[in-house]
Amino acid sequence: TAKLNGKNRLVFFHPEDYERRLAEIELQAELEEAVKENFSGFSLRYQPQVRSETFELAGAEALVRFHSPRRGMVLPAEFVPILERSGLMIPVGSWVLRTALAQCRVWREKLPSFRISVNMSYTQLRCPEIQAEVLSELRENDLPGSALTIEVTEGIELQEYGYLNAIFSAWKKEGIEISVDDFGTGYSSLGWLKKLEIDEIKIDRCFISGIQHSVYNLRLVSNIIEVAKSGFLRVCCEGVETMEELAALETLQPALYQGFYFSKPVPPEHFALNSLMQRFKEQCQ
Ligand code: C2E
Ligand code: MG
Ligand code: MG
Ligand code: MG
Repeated sequence: TAKLNGKNRLVFFHPEDYERRLAEIELQAELEEAVKENFSGFSLRYQPQVRSETFELAGAEALVRFHSPRRGMVLPAEFVPILERSGLMIPVGSWVLRTALAQCRVWREKLPSFRISVNMSYTQLRCPEIQAEVLSELRENDLPGSALTIEVTEGIELQEYGYLNAIFSAWKKEGIEISVDDFGTGYSSLGWLKKLEIDEIKIDRCFISGIQHSVYNLRLVSNIIEVAKSGFLRVCCEGVETMEELAALETLQPALYQGFYFSKPVPPEHFALNSLMQRFKEQCQ
């Protein structure tokens, strides 16, 4: 798999790289087509967030999926980077926000305290229209800001703090909350929180997985929770998969849990509000 280019130099192609690149190009074409076709093929899954004190349903995180005509269901780890590079993240992000808020409105009729969490990337945050768009989508759906949490990840350039704080404070005036996703996996963790007006941190799954066997992780998570509480930050523990992990976390008292132990992310028609609420209570007695 070597070939001569125009200047008689050897260029190597690794077949796996080539195939991966080809698959990416195909997927990008499918994503572009789907956006043009009124976002056909995109859907949202919802994963419950559970209050640790009472095991009541607090809300859900919206997670995007793409159904590829050739390959079936594709996960965001694969297609979100393509959306980011191609500029499609902006329209798809708007679709996610719109769809998640419309769904939230329906669930709040049964459970008025229900909150929806929506992931937002920096490509979206850098878009000048985003501040007004979020507020107008809430209005369209007759929702107060307190129905929405926006999840962002750590690790932005220092010069962007001012810009982000301006957006965040406009949102916070309306009751929208800001959450730092995958907390602990980036750098500058705690310094970051002081510079930005954050309401919640989501401790990454990698610290939760097998926590009952790791004195180090248990201490780490315990310290994060202590520091967060002293700054009036809510803590959500992500990726709780087992009863043993839950038992270890119970001693630390975060505010929220999210993970396969409670439920996988499910399509909205499988998100049965009443039975979920009942089940969590029974599960945790
Ligand atoms: P995230 O925001 O940290 O979402 C949590 C991820 O962990 C989800 O993966 C979820 O399915 C998975 N998860 C939840 N509980 C468990 C558990 O107990 N065990 C395990 N092994 N996994 C668990 P998913 O849906 O594949 O999403 C991956 C990432 O893609 C998200 O991470 C988020 O960063 C990004 N993403 C998803 N939807 C959107 C979106 O609408 N917009 C943007 N910008 N990014 C999104
Ligand atoms: Mg998230
Ligand atoms: Mg996360
Ligand atoms: Mg993430």
